[in-house]
Amino acid sequence: MLQANPVKRKVSIGVNRNLCIGCGICVRVCPTGAISIVFNKALINKQMCNNCYQCVYTCPKSAIGIEWKRVINLNELKTNISNMQKKADNIIQRIAKLE
Ligand code: SF4
Ligand code: SF4
Repeated sequence: MLQANPVKRKVSIGVNRNLCIGCGICVRVCPTGAISIVFNKALINKQMCNNCYQCVYTCPKSAIGIEWKRVINLNELKTNISNMQKKADNIIQRIAKLE
């Protein structure tokens, strides 16, 4: 079911440099040539990545992961700010009563 203000989530691929051993398997499986080995660690050019996740599935060290980013839409942002404003007003009124 469609929501009025769906929260979009954006994904991108990221390398955990602590886990990467620079084996280059991900470089070989990447269909877009987005990965290179720099200083013995995989480096992903996110502009070239098509999110096929082949590198995620094949990395023997599980060093490549999917990064989820929450993207808030404008209506949701306005609602959140409005709610925060109401809470702030409420707190200010309660403080005023204490004076
Ligand atoms: S396959 Fe994994 S361990 Fe090997 S270079 Fe790529 S990210 Fe690093
Ligand atoms: S997700 Fe696909 S296109 Fe993106 S870096 Fe990995 S293998 Fe390459």
